[in-house]
Amino acid sequence: MKVLRPHSVDDALELYERHPDAVPLAGGTDFMVAWNGGSENGRLILDLSALASWRRIRDTPSMLRLGALVTHWQLQQETLVKKKFPLLVDACATIGGRQIQSRGTLGGNIANASPAGDTFAPLAVYDARVRLRSAAGRRKLPFMDVFAGVKKTHLRPGELIELVELDFPKKPARQFFRKVGTRSASAISKTVAAGLLWLRRDGTVRELRFALGSMAPTVRRLYSVESFLLGKKPTPRVVKEAVALLEADVDPIDDLRSTRFYRMEVSRNLLRAFLRSGS
Ligand SMILES: Cc1cc2nc3c(=O)[nH]c(=O)nc-3n(C[C@H](O)[C@H](O)[C@H](O)COP(=O)(O)OP(=O)(O)OC[C@H]3O[C@@H](n4cnc5c(N)ncnc54)[C@H](O)[C@@H]3O)c2cc1C
Repeated sequence: MKVLRPHSVDDALELYERHPDAVPLAGGTDFMVAWNGGSENGRLILDLSALASWRRIRDTPSMLRLGALVTHWQLQQETLVKKKFPLLVDACATIGGRQIQSRGTLGGNIANASPAGDTFAPLAVYDARVRLRSAAGRRKLPFMDVFAGVKKTHLRPGELIELVELDFPKKPARQFFRKVGTRSASAISKTVAAGLLWLRRDGTVRELRFALGSMAPTVRRLYSVESFLLGKKPTPRVVKEAVALLEADVDPIDDLRSTRFYRMEVSRNLLRAFLRSGS
């Protein structure tokens, strides 16, 4: 196995342009599983781990910038992330065990594009943006536009994830994260949900954002439910109607971890629990 290990971002981008078939390596927690299975034998590796600037978390007055190499463990330690983006912290705390959290990175989780990526539902409701770099320049994608399908992204050849941008949200009235797996530790999601809700003084919905992972090839925002609830009070009758709309936005499958039926039932229960939680 040949490994290229650049020490600057410019060198990394230049090497990736020259070797577009190289496999970027961050924490290696997804890559090593594939390598062990034999699918990556003989590939040229572009090891990003020496890019110190991509390990940083920086704040501006309006947002946080999370470098692609920030680990799930680092995200759980950072005061500003805990204060402003608790759903992301909750998600990171459910990823594998402590060893996986200490090596696995946010950029690797996104680039791996698993339908069960646990950071995705929180990033979807926080309206994250993903900044990409290549030797040709920079571009930004709204988080929801990164994914093209199971394990597929819209990254172009020679492009790397540089960082994730998160605008500081206004304080929500309610927030929610729940991962449902076979057991409470080290489990891959059967379904994973994140929600943010802002209410007006009269109790009507000012804004709702709700996302589900593991319920379709890519993470889904429940846009039908979100727009249905705008301006309405989440009374039992309204919540019942909203929950019935969930099906419009997701398309789960039967697989070795769960069934379509179970995933739908649990997701409906999670949405109902979130919408009724303040009443
Ligand atoms: C035992 C175990 C348990 C796990 N549990 C969970 C879990 O509960 N939830 C969950 O979501 N995941 C889980 N994972 C998956 C994995 O740990 C995460 O997806 C992790 O965030 C991957 O990050 P990494 O840095 O290790 O990625 P790597 O393995 O280094 O890379 C993953 C992929 O992303 C690409 N890549 C990495 N960085 C970049 C970049 N900056 N730009 C472009 N492409 C890039 C690589 O080429 C590769 O294709 C688990 C894995 C294991 C082995």
